[in-house]
Amino acid sequence: VKENGKNHYRFYSDEMNEEMLQDLELEAKLRHAIDNNEFVLHYQPQIDLNNDRVFGVEALIRWEDEELGLVSPGKFIPLAERTGLIIPIGDWVLEQACREAKEFHEAGFPNLKMGINLSARQFADNNLVEKISNILSETELNPAKLELEITESIIMKDVKESVKKLIKLKKLGVKFSIDDFGTGYSSLSYLKEFPIGTLKIDRSFVDQLPSDENDTAIVKAIIDLAHNLNLNVIAEGVENPEHLQFLEQNDCDRIQGYYFGKPMSKKEIVKFLTNEPWK
Ligand code: C2E
Ligand code: CA
Ligand code: CA
Ligand code: CA
Repeated sequence: VKENGKNHYRFYSDEMNEEMLQDLELEAKLRHAIDNNEFVLHYQPQIDLNNDRVFGVEALIRWEDEELGLVSPGKFIPLAERTGLIIPIGDWVLEQACREAKEFHEAGFPNLKMGINLSARQFADNNLVEKISNILSETELNPAKLELEITESIIMKDVKESVKKLIKLKKLGVKFSIDDFGTGYSSLSYLKEFPIGTLKIDRSFVDQLPSDENDTAIVKAIIDLAHNLNLNVIAEGVENPEHLQFLEQNDCDRIQGYYFGKPMSKKEIVKFLTNEPWK
């Protein structure tokens, strides 16, 4: 038994070491990527169901490492968050997305909204308001076209501080949406307190539409809730005509998903906006 216990311990400790080594390796590569500007932004279209037009895009970061190939943000963003590297990465995303939004406006799409994801550490950053204010004046982007995507759990970490920060950002003219809505805290009271404009229904609720009874009930309830609070509602992860039909019939305002367009490069999204292939 003793022998077994020892082996058992060793087994776990080896596994942990390996994980830590992998993390350290990825962290080193990530630092290198920051220094060498190895990131690009891809943009996923968001469609307004009232007029079938693209009203905005969501900026999604992409990183291609020489050895590792394309590394998914689902993998490196959490690591960046743990190590603090999310701050330089996030700063770059904010500036790049605002600069490119301005370019889209000047290329003939003057109303296009730019959605940018903010992580917990970024939102907690004491310099965030000043950074965004500076980026807005440098890029001359219309602040009303910038929509920051924040999750419920980020806001709920420190409600008082969050309200203060959101109000400061709102004064700059910036908009907010709640990302992955429904997956985080169940407390809904904050929806009244926070100056948010949009709820994004998490794609886990959209996936099984219209067959899953629980999901249909949840999605209908979120749409009603949003409308009763005078908020817009957008569904993520719309992958097929069945998803779309359900959401249209239930009065969802906007949609985003592979059915309309995957995240694409800057060049591709301009082509997409020009040709309107979803119509
Ligand atoms: P998210 O903010 O929830 O972004 C939506 C994710 O769903 C994206 O994954 C997008 O490519 C994917 N998606 C969109 N439509 C569909 C669909 O129809 N079906 C399916 N199965 N997936 C769809 P991606 O680009 O891999 O990003 C993953 C997460 O990484 C994001 O989730 C976000 O939390 C984070 N992330 C990405 N870019 C950034 C960034 O610039 N900054 C920060 N802080 N986080 C980012
Ligand atoms: Ca998002
Ligand atoms: Ca989301
Ligand atoms: Ca998500």
